[in-house]
Amino acid sequence: MRLPLIVGNWKMNGSLTANQDLLHAIQLGLDKVNCEVAVCVPFPYLQQVQQLCEGESCMLGAQDVSAHQQGAFTGEVSASMLHEFGVRFVIVGHSERRQYHAETDAVVASKAQRALAVGITPIVCVGETMAEREAGQTHAVIKRQLAAVIQTNGHCISEIVVAYEPVWAIGTGKTATPEQAQEVHTLLRAQLRAATPHPERIALLYGGSMNAVNAASLLAQPDIDGGLIGGAALKAADFLTIVAVASH
Ligand code: PEP
Repeated sequence: MRLPLIVGNWKMNGSLTANQDLLHAIQLGLDKVNCEVAVCVPFPYLQQVQQLCEGESCMLGAQDVSAHQQGAFTGEVSASMLHEFGVRFVIVGHSERRQYHAETDAVVASKAQRALAVGITPIVCVGETMAEREAGQTHAVIKRQLAAVIQTNGHCISEIVVAYEPVWAIGTGKTATPEQAQEVHTLLRAQLRAATPHPERIALLYGGSMNAVNAASLLAQPDIDGGLIGGAALKAADFLTIVAVASH
């Protein structure tokens, strides 16, 4: 059976000193947990965190990857570069990338493809805005976002992770209710079941203001296999509480 997966998204936070303190504190609490754990860090800290994670159970992740293989794409970082630093997961299609960098479904699908081509697991984020939810478009938006990734990646789709992150819940302190999250996860599961003979390999994470208090009720849902954690991943005690809840 697949272990739960808890992933921290540090976003544009950290420093050499703060990273060391945070990871040290996290790793002290990861002994004997029954859960997979990763942290997605800013690019300049990949090497530092790779070294800090060596021989430890915490895995390394990145927050974005180029949709291109290599070449004249100033400022971008390729999947093969991430691979050289021991990156195991990369977030693609985070709503902050879709919103502030105009990433389309097609770009997100290509990013997932680049990651898969070098053996990195893409964590594909999907989620609706509040306006879309209020207009009754949640299902259609989620379905469209995931369909693009399925179409581009064919049978490799069983190697991805999907994170349902309602845009209105990210960094806002507003969390989807367990029922709202489970409803979307049921849809995602059905869509993946129709796309691959191995849907059981795909972890479905919930993300959006998950914290030490609400994690238990969200992770208790049958189709929520873990969490993508932003703010609460920057506090070792909160992150470890979520990991402990997921481990039960
Ligand atoms: C995220 O950035 O993926 C996220 C879920 O953030 P937060 O937990 O802060 O809402």
